[in-house]
Amino acid sequence: MSEARTLDALIVGAGFAGLYMLHKLRQDGFTAQVVEKGSGVGGTWFWNRYPGARCDIPSIEYSYSFDAELEAEWRWSERYAAQPEILRYLEHVAERFDLMRDIALETLVTSARWDEGKGRWLVETDGGDAFDVQFPILATGALSEPKQPDIPGLENFEGQVLHSAMWDDGADLAGKNVCHFGTGSTGIQVVGEVAKAAKQLTVFQRTPNFAVPGGNHPLPGDYLEDLLPRYPELRERARTSPLGWFHGAWEGSAKADDPDAREERLEKAWKAGTTGLLQAYEDLLFDEESNSYAADFARRKIAELVDDPEKARKLTPHGYPMGSRRLCTEVDFYEAMNRDNVALVDVREEPVVTVTAHSVKTDKGEYPADVIILATGFDACVGAIKAIDIRGRDGRSIRDEWDNGPRAYLGLAVEGFPNMFTITGPGSPSVLSNVVVSIEQHVEWVARCMVDMRDAGQPVIEATAEAETAWMEHAHEVAHSTLFPRANSWYQGHTKDGRQVFMPYVGGVGAYRAKCEEIAANGYEGFVLRGTDEMQQKDAVA
Ligand SMILES: Cc1cc2nc3c(=O)[nH]c(=O)nc-3n(C[C@H](O)[C@H](O)[C@H](O)COP(=O)(O)OP(=O)(O)OC[C@H]3O[C@@H](n4cnc5c(N)ncnc54)[C@H](O)[C@@H]3O)c2cc1C
Repeated sequence: MSEARTLDALIVGAGFAGLYMLHKLRQDGFTAQVVEKGSGVGGTWFWNRYPGARCDIPSIEYSYSFDAELEAEWRWSERYAAQPEILRYLEHVAERFDLMRDIALETLVTSARWDEGKGRWLVETDGGDAFDVQFPILATGALSEPKQPDIPGLENFEGQVLHSAMWDDGADLAGKNVCHFGTGSTGIQVVGEVAKAAKQLTVFQRTPNFAVPGGNHPLPGDYLEDLLPRYPELRERARTSPLGWFHGAWEGSAKADDPDAREERLEKAWKAGTTGLLQAYEDLLFDEESNSYAADFARRKIAELVDDPEKARKLTPHGYPMGSRRLCTEVDFYEAMNRDNVALVDVREEPVVTVTAHSVKTDKGEYPADVIILATGFDACVGAIKAIDIRGRDGRSIRDEWDNGPRAYLGLAVEGFPNMFTITGPGSPSVLSNVVVSIEQHVEWVARCMVDMRDAGQPVIEATAEAETAWMEHAHEVAHSTLFPRANSWYQGHTKDGRQVFMPYVGGVGAYRAKCEEIAANGYEGFVLRGTDEMQQKDAVA
């Protein structure tokens, strides 16, 4: 191990969060370094290079707002930019703000250890680098640790296996037999594109998801001229809105509306694209009956869009409220289902028995495979943090503790792990919001906290157990006042005794921001600020 480099902060991850965190800390006069395991910056948009990858929140909203000049100079080509364009944007940001000189690529953080006496962390990497830092900042991403599915016999397969989050740029699917697993947001994007290239595509589906056409389109050349004068106001609206979007839900209750008016409104919302359908009425995520009208509407759309009634039946979601699992954006997914070269297997009706060297066998048939695609998602919200061996006070391990369900104060800090911050951690709006809005809020809050600590001469901050428990209980309560917990989804974590922990905070981006600001203004309520043991010893000697 090399001699430890001393810094104020080590930022883990070079996605939207890590890049802005570095820029902000530099502006505030801190020494900071980013370490990133990938060979480039961009995070999600560096790794997820599968065909069809694009954002599902309009790019003019899903982008940084912290710099007006950046806003004024970058032009998005489409309503929902595709992965290569978002990656170019993030590379541009890294270059524009001269960030690369403090970013170490191809460097995996493996461990972090708290030294109570010094009030500092020793962070180590796979390459033997070590950092002696006051603040480790985990900008490791809520959706960055790919989940490997448990498919029997997968190890027998002799063809190519592609995970959507570790895509091989050179993969050529033209004329191939492809078996595809996963029909969540990513899987639905992959299928729409791969169907066009593959000879035969067999889609293995476990849970049908609601999917709404994205309504993507090129942005007119002069869109920015129109937008720029309104941008500050729209950005501010997003910051104070429930989900971090420019526009909130349309007023009114679906169940209280007249049936014809309701149909008309749902049609309009469907055409607005993507999450528009969830915004059709303000009670869709709170009231089961209201939700059922929108869900039935979406089910009727599937029947209209998918020609084969048997495929349509399998694709039709039942048993959970619409939106309680992530609502997917589809581009050519239903169209793919109408192609002769696309088959759909519902693994609940036709379980996979084994993968062989060149096929996938179910209890009813055998499907040839040259390539297997796994669009099976992530160990959401916690995976990337648990992957690091983090030892806090008294050697406590975050991995062990979060095995019993994640807990954090405001999704920003964890009791027992002083000075460690988690950007979009569990218990914050994170994946239930426009994540860039949530990232900016966390980055700015953390930087302000570090400045306040510096000004106060108190180098250590730690959440109290009481505040953390109260926050998690509040987050649980809020989640259960909505329909979100009614579905078995990746939003849920679990305790060892099987209780659910709803990981993202559902209380709204705006309300959450106000709470974080109030806590900071009140001297960091729920945190203890203190000196280090070494400072106390020096004082005692003096
Ligand atoms: C396919 C896809 C589409 C998405 N679309 C949207 C969307 O439309 N709207 C939206 O709001 N959100 C979307 N998201 C969520 C998306 O993850 C966030 O919007 C955002 O990009 C997260 O940025 P981040 O910097 O927090 O994390 P990430 O972009 O995930 O970056 C984290 C980085 O940390 C690195 N890292 C992790 N652990 C370590 C370690 N131990 N050592 C070194 N480096 C490490 C990773 O390699 C990664 O590069 C999408 C996610 C996916 C997967």
